[in-house]
Amino acid sequence: MQKYSYTKFKTVLKKTNNIIITTHWSPDGDAMGSSLALYNYLIKLGKNVKVVVPNAYPEFLDWLPGNKQVIIHQKNETKVEKLVKAADLIFTLDFNSFKRIEKLGELIEKANKPIVMVDHHQMPDDYASYYFHDVKACSTCELIFDLIVGLGGKKLIDKKIAACLYTGIMTDTGSFRYPSVTAKTHLVISELLKTGMIPADIHSAIYDTYSFERIKLLGYLLSEKMALVDDLPVAYFGITEAELKKFNYQKGDTEGIVNYPFSIKGIKVCALFMESEGYIKISFRSKGKIDVNKFAREHFNGGGHINAAGGKSDLSLDATVNKFITLAKTLF
Ligand code: 5GP
Ligand code: MN
Repeated sequence: MQKYSYTKFKTVLKKTNNIIITTHWSPDGDAMGSSLALYNYLIKLGKNVKVVVPNAYPEFLDWLPGNKQVIIHQKNETKVEKLVKAADLIFTLDFNSFKRIEKLGELIEKANKPIVMVDHHQMPDDYASYYFHDVKACSTCELIFDLIVGLGGKKLIDKKIAACLYTGIMTDTGSFRYPSVTAKTHLVISELLKTGMIPADIHSAIYDTYSFERIKLLGYLLSEKMALVDDLPVAYFGITEAELKKFNYQKGDTEGIVNYPFSIKGIKVCALFMESEGYIKISFRSKGKIDVNKFAREHFNGGGHINAAGGKSDLSLDATVNKFITLAKTLF
């Protein structure tokens, strides 16, 4: 997708007032960080902006500036229908297929409004009028930074906007350690730090807020549930709803767990399968050229990035895990 011109987009933006920002199902740090950074920037331009997310997001993100005005579509369908009807422009952040926002996607698709895509996932659909899409970006937050700067708004990036952007870049790069991190990423961070934003506070707000049960769940999964696929450098977890219940599971409690087996020497692929709201939610991670985006698209109704993707399965947990074990060799 050809990146749209910032200069031309500035003219587009000038003509709009009612703006909706939306992001993917089960919003993560980059989804909420990018949405709220853009929100805080656009309200500074005097726009009427609403952030609408398809469903709830983890509590460790609810300190983000602008959090209070976020509307959850699943809980406010009528209100969101009205907002979409009145919108002049809709931003879709950190995803690239209406499938990723479920019922909200159908609503937006039908509304036929101009759409802006800002995203860094593989293989974007072609529903937007304006694309700021780049798979090389470490995060959607990095692209939002570029967009704000491109629109001439660098001076408007304050502590609040910087905190949102820092959150997304930090969480989507595993705290600046994934191969997606570039010199550019660190240059962006350097600009954000100049606003006076305090990185240590953000690390604490995201990572030092576990409940007692969440850390117990992590211990249980590592000691009892982590398994290896025979003869392959592949590790996985299969988690039942009952197990989650036992540890008083809250949204976001399993975030990051899929990566732990990479600490085992030689492991190249990790997977996590979890019973959730009537289906199996899947996370895949890989090293190097092993393409879990393609794997998730072909076999598990999902997608994402080459080294980090997700998907869904309507089979039982055991059947899904067995399907994965059978197919795992095709990754190599
Ligand atoms: P996670 O495993 O952290 O949920 O997701 C990893 C990556 O894959 C994220 O970039 C996320 O946006 C993407 N992803 C997760 N689940 C799905 C899915 O069901 N479909 C698609 N297309 N992408 C997904
Ligand atoms: Mn992202």
